[in-house]
Amino acid sequence: MTNEELRESLLMSPKNGYAVLTDAQRAEMEDYCKRYMTFMDLCKTEREATAWAVATAEANGFKALTPGMELKAGDKVYYDNRGKSILLAVIGSEPLSEGANICAAHVDSPRLDVKPNPLYEDGEIAYLKTHYYGGIKKYQWPTIPLAIHGVICRKDGSSVTVTIGEDDTDPVLMVSDLLPHLAADQMKKTLAEGIVGEQLNVIMGTAPLTGEGTDLVKLNIMKLLNEKYGIIESDFLSAELCIVPAGKCREVGLDRSLIGAYGHDDRVCAFAEIEPLLTMDTPTHTAVCILADKEEIGSVGISGMKSKVFEYFMEILCDSQNVKLSQCFANSFCLSADVSNAYDPNFPEVHDRRNNSILNYGVAICKYTGSRGKGGASDASAEAMSHVRTTLENAGVLWQIATLGKVDQGGGGTVAAYMADRNIVTVDAGVPVLSMHAPIELVSKLDCYMTMLACKAIYLA
Ligand code: MN
Ligand code: MN
Repeated sequence: MTNEELRESLLMSPKNGYAVLTDAQRAEMEDYCKRYMTFMDLCKTEREATAWAVATAEANGFKALTPGMELKAGDKVYYDNRGKSILLAVIGSEPLSEGANICAAHVDSPRLDVKPNPLYEDGEIAYLKTHYYGGIKKYQWPTIPLAIHGVICRKDGSSVTVTIGEDDTDPVLMVSDLLPHLAADQMKKTLAEGIVGEQLNVIMGTAPLTGEGTDLVKLNIMKLLNEKYGIIESDFLSAELCIVPAGKCREVGLDRSLIGAYGHDDRVCAFAEIEPLLTMDTPTHTAVCILADKEEIGSVGISGMKSKVFEYFMEILCDSQNVKLSQCFANSFCLSADVSNAYDPNFPEVHDRRNNSILNYGVAICKYTGSRGKGGASDASAEAMSHVRTTLENAGVLWQIATLGKVDQGGGGTVAAYMADRNIVTVDAGVPVLSMHAPIELVSKLDCYMTMLACKAIYLA
């Protein structure tokens, strides 16, 4: 054998996905990404993603799951978890004692949440006070157009949905930053300290009501909110208002190979796992799709992945077949579908080039996340990695390996550990992202498409 032949047979030679994509796949990829971009324009919060998923699932023949429901192979059900997260299933031909194939993504993203008592006036400018949600770089949030998305429950118990800043005729909101001329002290601070949490106050307006009185700018804003939404100031106490980047998702690059949007993490995996489920024929194993909330703050709370709502949902499915939940879990597999950090040539010092995911190389399989000696990681076993590897290769899905940066550079986690805690074999996989957790994140269309194909293959495994 020549060295070249040896190299070919023994060594890996990863290829850019565009080198192997067929014309038909390329057309399918473009169509898929168009649908994904429409979804992203409609869904910027977990509430909006859940509402979209309920409506879309119903349109595709899914029924709301209720305890005691009779279920047979091919039935499609969903559980709307209080409007904040959703679980869906297509019942398989094999009993649930054989386990389910689960894909779990999250639909919350880092943002600014409005405080319970937010509205005030200072220097004749009306503001909303915020508390950031999830891991953000605070300096990235001033001077960009912002929108409000959320819900307000009024004193009388009725509620109203609020969206300001997305319609072309809407005003947008903004946080101000210091002019460079007067930023001598600010510029000496670290990036973490240059803008602090209590400076992320959102400008609501500057025009006072005419006449006598104090805080007339604030009063005018409250009047406008009252006219439009029928709310009074105390209604902020029972509200969930999220400040997110305003505007639609865009193609990025002259070749249009990238998509720029707020909140790819992790709606890019959420869409990848729900789309193939919607139109699925009866799978062998029951296919379960989870769109969870609160991942960005530790998967806590009633809508997070640590919540027993998952057991509640799965138990109803198992009860319909007289199967023990623990047996179902023991035989199940979960793809924890979450994004990875794409290699960024602008910051080579934080990556291990040989083990990092790269744009356009396909869905990124992540053996472990965590930090400092794999702390907090759900470290997938060789056997679990083998299951994913063979499943994806048999289905012709382009995949690559991923780790979260250099050893001891930082780290992070996903819902994987909480699924593994339940005695479910779990592997992390998802779309590589540039500028993760920034107001606008970047993903490649090819990786989005491959991640959807990966979820489909896992459901059908
Ligand atoms: Mn994520
Ligand atoms: Mn995240």
